[in-house]
This record gives sequence, C-alpha cells and structure tokens, in this order.
Amino acid sequence: GYYKVVKENRTLYNMVQDLKGNIRVYCRIRPSFRAETKNVIDFVGDDGSLVILDPLRPQKEGKKVFQFNRVFSLTATQDEVFKDTQPLIRSVMDGFNVCIFAYGQTGSGKTHTMSGPLSGSMKDLGINYLALNYLFQLSNGRKDIINYGIHVQMVEIYNEQHKLEIRSSASENGLCLPDATLRAVKSPTDVLNLMKLGEMNRVVSSTAINNRSSRSHSVVTVHVHGKDISGNTLRSCLHLVDLAGSERVDKSEVTGDRLKEAQYINKSLSCLGDVITALAQKNSHIPYRNSKLTLLLQDSLGGHAKTLMFAHVSPEEDSFGETVSTLKFAQRVSTVELGAARLNKESSEVMQLKEQIESLKKALANKE
Ligand code: ADP
Ligand code: MG
Repeated sequence: GYYKVVKENRTLYNMVQDLKGNIRVYCRIRPSFRAETKNVIDFVGDDGSLVILDPLRPQKEGKKVFQFNRVFSLTATQDEVFKDTQPLIRSVMDGFNVCIFAYGQTGSGKTHTMSGPLSGSMKDLGINYLALNYLFQLSNGRKDIINYGIHVQMVEIYNEQHKLEIRSSASENGLCLPDATLRAVKSPTDVLNLMKLGEMNRVVSSTAINNRSSRSHSVVTVHVHGKDISGNTLRSCLHLVDLAGSERVDKSEVTGDRLKEAQYINKSLSCLGDVITALAQKNSHIPYRNSKLTLLLQDSLGGHAKTLMFAHVSPEEDSFGETVSTLKFAQRVSTVELGAARLNKESSEVMQLKEQIESLKKALANKE
C-alpha cells in the first residue's frame, strides 16, 4: 500500500532526474568580508545564470555570462543549499552512487559548504552532516528495507599520497581503502564526533605543514547497505569531497616542497577535468588511473553515477582572475551529458518502469 506508492514515486523521480543527465553544477558565492573592495558579481538569476564584471573593464565588454543548474547568492543559508542537494542524497538510499564535490580557490567557502563550523553550536553545519542526518531519517522511515548499515570513511589525499593503498575489491561496491578505518555510525551524534576527529587530524597536520588543508583533498565516503523484504540487496556509496584550493600558483615564486605541492594539486584537478571531458566525449578510455583522487572516485564519476559539483567563488575584485577560471572549469563540467545512472539493485519494478518510460518516449517520438 503506502510504502509501495512512496517507493514508486521515488523511483520515478530518480528516472526523471536521469533523463536530465547526471552531472549537475551549482555555483555558490560567499559573502564579501571587505566592504571597501569592489564586488565583481553583477547579476544572479533564479534560472542559474550568473554575470560577473571585470573590475578593469567595467563597461559592457567586461561582462561575462555563465549558466549553471543553480546559483546560490551570498544570502543563501546552509539549509537552502541542502534543500537542493536532498534529492541526490535520497537517491543514495535507492541504490545510486553519488559524488558531491566542492571546487574553488582557497577561502571561497568549500569547507563552509561541506563541513560548516564544527565547533560550538550546531548552527550552520554543512552538507556532510545534513546528508548523514537525512540518511538516518530515511533509513528509519523505510520499513521495506531491513539490515541497514551505514559506514563512514575519511581519507585525506595530499601530494598524491595517503598512507593507504587504494585497491578495488570485487565483493564491495566501489573502491575502498581496506586499511582505512571504516566506522559504523548509528546516529547523527556519532557522525559529528567522527567529523570533529577528522578535522582535528587535519588541523594537526596543518601546523606541521603550513596551511596544509588547502592543499589536500578531503574525502568522506558513506557506504550504505541493506536488504529489502523481497530479498533485493541495496549497496551504494556517497562521496563528499572538499577539494584542494584550485588557485594557480606562480611557479616563479615557489620552489621546493611548495612547488611540488602545487604541481600535485594541478595534476589531480586537471585529471578530474580530463576524466569529466573523456566521459562527456564518450571515449572508450577514461583516464581514472592518472590520479589518486579520480581512482578513488571512479565508481561514482562515470555514466553510472550521479555527480554534483559546487563551484565556489569569492566576490572580491582581487579574486577576479581565479573566479573566472573556477567558473570556466565549472561551465565545462556542466555541459557534460552522461547516460542513465545505474541502480545497484536488481528490481523488476525498476525494469518495468524503465520499459514504460522507453515506450512512452518512443510513442512521443512517433507523434512528432
Ligand atoms: P575554503 O575551504 O574554500 O578555503 P572556507 O570554507 O574555509 O574556504 O571559507 C573561508 C572563510 O569564509 C571561513 O571563515 C568561512 O567561515 C567563511 N565563509 C565561507 N562561506 C561562507 C558563507 N556562505 N557564509 C558565511 N561565511 C562563509
Ligand atoms: Mg577549506
């Protein structure tokens, strides 16, 4: 009765999403902290359009127009941002792999979007926490799925290294780090404690190596598994990625370790771009193996998964160059059209619905 209807609606919703393509790009503009500087944001549209203005050419020819799935202006709250992310999190519970990235230069608000402030009150917590909280809510509400398990793993990738080797394992969905601690979480409090522990580790290393957190990628992976009443298994994962700062480093100014870091960051971010381009061009070879980051995420980055990228920009005029390059990268990503996402679950219901959609599409095509 009721559960079945809810389930079907959810499945249908996912399919409608599939038809729209599986890569979505949102832009988020953080508030300006320096009232005395010029703001380069010229216009933010409800339809995902964004116009920025070159501070050196403040006439019409200095305008640059971009189009995304959505743009969040500086007044957008964490809850508003999460509201648009929620359907994607729901589809994890339906068996889809999902990957959410935060991209942008250092200081543009990536960590604010993904983690939010972890100390003090619970106010302004970011997507990592809100997503897990929502997954718990959903799992408590699903009486059709038994034996639920939610496990969380945190990995930091710095200079293409982490202490642990990435290995794929046939029995698991997606790549996992066999030696990384995979912790079962049972409540939002467990999650918050784990996130604080993760942040502490990042802070410890940032005193050892100056501002390391802006030069490493932080990947939180949530594994969900369960079995429904008819014996179908559900297994999916959600990657929540706070990327290293995308700023270009002037190579004439840095040497030694700083130069090495900059090269590694450029390498992994450009590999991410290459993978996305190869997917867009439907190449037979997708260069996942060129970086640790893309290798770790490969099962959640292809045509079989759903991807959301947040492109973060700072509004101040001295960030204009980086803002343009962030928006260009994001624009390239948003034009990627991928095939239908794959459900990690065998369900005849889904197959039937798919067939129904196909025949409706055919009928529609014949009419035109
Ligand atoms: P990044 O991780 O990209 O280097 P942060 O998330 O650390 O950037 O943001 C830099 C600073 O700006 C932090 O002090 C953060 O709290 C603040 N900040 C970022 N985005 C917002 C926002 N949308 N609203 C309020 N403060 C923000
Ligand atoms: Mg950060």
